[in-house]
Amino acid sequence: MTIRESIEEREQSLLSPRAACSRSSRGRPRSEEPCPVRTCYQVDRDRILHSKSFRRLKHKTQVFLSPEGDHYRTRLTHTLEVSQIARTVARALQLNEDLTEAVALGHDLGHTPFGHAGERVLDELLQDGFHHVRQSLRVVDLLENDGAGLNLTWEVRDGILHHSKGRGALLGKGECDLPATLEGQVVRLADIVAYVSHDLDDAIRAGLISGEAVPAPLREVLGSWHGERINTMVVDMIATSLATGTASIRLSEPVSQAVTELRDWLFRHVYQAESVAADFHKASHVLRALFDYFLAHPGELTACGGRPSEQDGVEVAVADFLAGMTDRYAMNLYQRLFLPQPWKAL
Ligand code: MG
Repeated sequence: MTIRESIEEREQSLLSPRAACSRSSRGRPRSEEPCPVRTCYQVDRDRILHSKSFRRLKHKTQVFLSPEGDHYRTRLTHTLEVSQIARTVARALQLNEDLTEAVALGHDLGHTPFGHAGERVLDELLQDGFHHVRQSLRVVDLLENDGAGLNLTWEVRDGILHHSKGRGALLGKGECDLPATLEGQVVRLADIVAYVSHDLDDAIRAGLISGEAVPAPLREVLGSWHGERINTMVVDMIATSLATGTASIRLSEPVSQAVTELRDWLFRHVYQAESVAADFHKASHVLRALFDYFLAHPGELTACGGRPSEQDGVEVAVADFLAGMTDRYAMNLYQRLFLPQPWKAL
């Protein structure tokens, strides 16, 4: 028996009957020899962690554009916080922690530079629109690994594709919105648990709002500081999900309502605040200018690090290139293409 096979046996005996055991995976788009040491979900987690798109998350905006302060979240630290929260819940509910971790680490790989402002610009520019969720799947299926993709399991791909709630109901409009596995559903809720708390924490750090400005009823339900809020939501998610016999992953009614209200409050006071949105207008201009430039000069895509446009057409190739950029890469490239460069001695 290989080490992987003994881990798979342990999964069957230790995990909840509702967990996704790696032995029962629906498999990969292209079949391949299993690893003798790691289960398929461990392999997926490692492929994501070692990918270039994952490393680029460190220079992509979460809320504040290319923040100079060392303590602000980036898309990478957001991803790590989601992963930690989701793993705590998965372990408590005896779900598959490796699958949970793989989905969490991969969920935001398709995010554009400049956060949701970048996403809005691409959505306006592209004929078929743009959404980071679809792009995350495109990254792992097609763009990573020099165009070969990461060949991830069905369950990880499904979790990535169904992780986002947008501004709708926390639990989705219907069953078809939800990830097929409970592990994917844990990540879906862990994402919002992480961002409502850390975006609030960063907005206070930025001096944009004070902690006392948050409506008192929300502070009473969720807590007043980051650790307290995370603890409230995680403990509540575990207890409420256990009460369903781990048939579904959910928050209790009062906590769910407080999370939704806090998210709406953040939209009004942080995400759409004038001082935050001011630089997003400039960021939108940068992306539009780069989009037009590469649409007119598709031959320069590959020299700058993009993919050739033959396969999916110029517009999609340009969108893939732009979506993959970090904030600073986009700004540097804009500077190089559109602003006069200081003369360097020959
Ligand atoms: Mg996220």
